[in-house]
Formats: sequence, structure tokens, C-alpha cells
Amino acid sequence: MDHLPVFLRLRAEPTVVVGGGRVAQRKIELLLKFGAHVTVIAPALCEELAARAARGEIRHVAEAFRPPHLDGARLAIAATDRRIVNTAVSEASRARALPVNVVDDPALSTFIFPAIIDRSPIVVAVGSAGNSPVLTRRVREQIEALLPGTLGALARFIGERRRTVQEALLPSARRSFWERIVAGKVGSRVLRGDTGGAQRDFERELRASQLTTSGATGTRDLGEVYLIGAGPGDPDLLTLRALQLLQQADVVLYDRLVPEAVLERCRRDARRIFVGKGAPHGPRGPHTDQGRIHELMLHFAREGLKVARLKGGDPFVFGRGGEEIEALARHGIPYVVVPGITAALGAASASGIPLTHRKLAQSFTVVTGHPLEDAALDWPALARPHQTVVFYMGVAHLAHIVHRLTAAGAPPTLPAALIERATLPGQRTLRGTLATIAALGHEAGISPPALLLVGEVAALNVDTPAEVCGGSGEQAASALETGEEAAGDLA
Ligand code: SAH
Repeated sequence: MDHLPVFLRLRAEPTVVVGGGRVAQRKIELLLKFGAHVTVIAPALCEELAARAARGEIRHVAEAFRPPHLDGARLAIAATDRRIVNTAVSEASRARALPVNVVDDPALSTFIFPAIIDRSPIVVAVGSAGNSPVLTRRVREQIEALLPGTLGALARFIGERRRTVQEALLPSARRSFWERIVAGKVGSRVLRGDTGGAQRDFERELRASQLTTSGATGTRDLGEVYLIGAGPGDPDLLTLRALQLLQQADVVLYDRLVPEAVLERCRRDARRIFVGKGAPHGPRGPHTDQGRIHELMLHFAREGLKVARLKGGDPFVFGRGGEEIEALARHGIPYVVVPGITAALGAASASGIPLTHRKLAQSFTVVTGHPLEDAALDWPALARPHQTVVFYMGVAHLAHIVHRLTAAGAPPTLPAALIERATLPGQRTLRGTLATIAALGHEAGISPPALLLVGEVAALNVDTPAEVCGGSGEQAASALETGEEAAGDLA
């Protein structure tokens, strides 16, 4: 390692920036965020810097750089486009043992700016010793996605209670107490914004810790269950919260619809347990299967573990999520539900078929295509025009569905589409009409998971670029404003 990462307190500290262009501006904006007193040395300033100088936010010395400009400074930055000037700033700074950064020039710098992930007061700095700002930004994005936006709130929650805990617990008990707070229910409550609940649990924990002389709680704490929607399959379609909770879970109970690529986003050492139903996508498994899932969730939560119940799509759309939270609530196990992108939405964007369209469909309905459950469906309503109907779990029963729709008055010419493995490798879309779709699906050997989509929109064939459905599109680099290493100019 070439560079020691340190956190500098710059509030009210004099810093000197040489250069008055846009690159200097970015560095100056960063320094101002940290409360530094900035003096800019440059014969001329760009518009934004001139405005800041006029408002008194920075001091401007309209001169060519000379070493005495560095007198009294704590930090120097050279951000001109002239190497000879940058070199002079670097040399003069080093002669004074003043830390100096020359933008885009690690060789002339004694320190470099990291990429910053700001969850104040938690701050993460990432650097590559100047080797690759692009890679640094990528790492930053990955960490950014994993850290809850409310992490700062948790740090403050703890900071505000440090003294209370110091007074209440022996030093030997404090560390394990805080570990339980951070990793347990209190931590997750603060992270999801339930400060009241967190405070109650915190007080309970503290009392329990005070009661046991060693400081370790004798009774085992309850764990919790995260009911997480995994989305239609492409792991990039997981929500940030799903990723965060998957990183916390000790045990993951997952369905057949959850692909390996999504499981890879779980914590490495988490125990994974497959709880898919015996007959995938066909008739739902016997009730004991669901009962077994409930037992497993309860069992692990009672062990004090964090359990992720990972389901394809959204847990509350044909996912039996309702039954699962009822079981948890009945047994007093805390739980969180995280929505996921349901298959209909994934399939629509991946196949370029909009579910609503100003001229063609003013509503969309998602229904089960399973004949054991379709008795309650209002077929005449589903057969009406100007809407889109998406059938889940219907591939094995295409002929039956088509028959019910046409019998209820839908025209055989009504467009229909089958979308198989939406957002997954090998995705296929077949288009036809009510008259043709069952045969088309049969010939092509369409198998679960697949959706049948019925309505005028199914005839639309808007070309969808592969990146959009494949989810591998480059993310926009948005790190610039934090003034990351080399400010991306080397990119
Ligand atoms: N909770 C899930 C649905 C579970 S029911 C959700 O919200 O998406 C299972 C049915 O979902 C499958 O039979 C199929 O019709 C549909 N499905 C799930 N993933 C799919 C995918 N990637 N492509 C097409 N259909 C899918």
C-alpha cells in the first residue's frame, strides 16, 4: 500500500488551490463542503469561481503562482493545465512539508483524493493509488449500493447513547452490547426509520445487559425475517434494500424461481436452503410444503438468526407472502417485507410491450392462469377491450385460458404474447393472437416460468435494446461531484 487513508479535519483551515478553471472549481467545491478556508491563486477565474469569490465564499489572489502564496496553508492543490506551474506548486509544497495534490498527476502529489461514499458521519473512502479512477468509481458504486441511505442515522443513534451505555455497563460488557445493537433488531429498526421502536428495544436490551453480571444476555434474542422480492430473475433488478438485507441475512430460504445469479448476491457465509415446491409452477405443492417453510422461518428466527425469505418477483403477488407474514405475526416474530419487480413488469420491459398505452389499454390486470384457482375469475370482465391481462402460472393451460376468454366474448383476433424466462438468459417472446397463441406456445415448447399477455398492446413490437432487458447497461458515472480520485479526468 502506497497511501495511508486518513480523515483530515479541514474546518476553518487555510487551503490553497492554484488554478481557476473547472478542474480547480471541482476541488474547491469539495474543500468548501468540509468547511475549509480556500484561497485560489489564478490570474483569472471561471464564471462559477468568480461568483463564489464575489460572494466572499473563497479568497481570490489574481496573480501567477509564487511559493510565498503557500505561507500558512495546511494543504495545497495544483489544478492548472500547465505542467510547469503544477510542478512548481508541487516542489514548493514539498519544500515546506505541505501535503500537495496535483490533479491527475499522482507522481507530483503527496496525497490523492479518494472516491467518497457519504453516509455522514460514516464516510467510506476508496482509492487505487492513482491507477484507475474508473475502477475506483465502480467500486464506489458497488459499496454505495450496499450501504443503506440511513446508515448515518444509525451512527448518530449510537453516538447519542454512548454515554448512557458507558455509565450503565462495565467496559467488558460494552463491546458485545454494541455488537448486538448494530447487528440486531435495534439496528434494523433505526435503518428503516423506526426510531421509536428502536429506542424501546434499546432500553430493553440495556436492562437485560445490566441484569446479567457478565454483560452477556442469558436469554437468546429473537431473530427476524426479511420477506424479500427477488424480482423476475436478472440480479441487477434487485432493489437496493433487497441487496442490503441479503448481505445481513444468516440464512436464506429461496424458491425455485430465484436464479443462482441472485443467490450470489447473498452473504458468502450465509446458509442457503432451497424450499421450492415439489412441482415447480404446476399445481401448487401440498399444504405441508408451505407449512414446512413456516416452520423453518420460525425455527431460525427463534435461534436468533436473521432469515431472508427470498421469493421470485414480488412476495405479495402470487407469492403466498400474505400467509407467511400471518404465520410470523402469530408467533411474534418481527419481519420486514421488501417489494420486488413482479414478473409482469419485468416481462413487459424486457419484451418491449407496454402494459398500458394511451390508445390501446387503459388498465392492466394480473391474474392466475391456474385452473384450480380461476373459478373466481370474472371472465367477461377479462374479455373486455382496452385493457391488458397478464396470466401467471398459465403456460400449461393455454388452451383452457384461450377457451374461457373467447367464450366470454374476446375476439379470436385479439393479440396475445408469451414471454418465457423474462429478464433471464435465454428469454423468448412469442407473438400471436388468441386463435394462434396456444399452438405457437406448444410448438415452441414454451415452459415455465412464462407469462401469457393478452391485449392490443401485445401486437406492439417496439425494439428493446438488449442492454435494457439484459440489465448489463453501464451505470452513469455520477461520482464527479464528490471529487473522487483524479476527478475522473484520466478516465
Ligand atoms: N411472485 C412472483 C410470481 C410467482 S407465481 C412475481 O411477482 O413475479 C410464478 C409465475 O410467475 C410463473 O409461473 C410465471 O408465470 C411467472 N414468472 C415468474 N418469473 C418469471 C419470468 N422471469 N418470466 C416469465 N414469467 C415469470
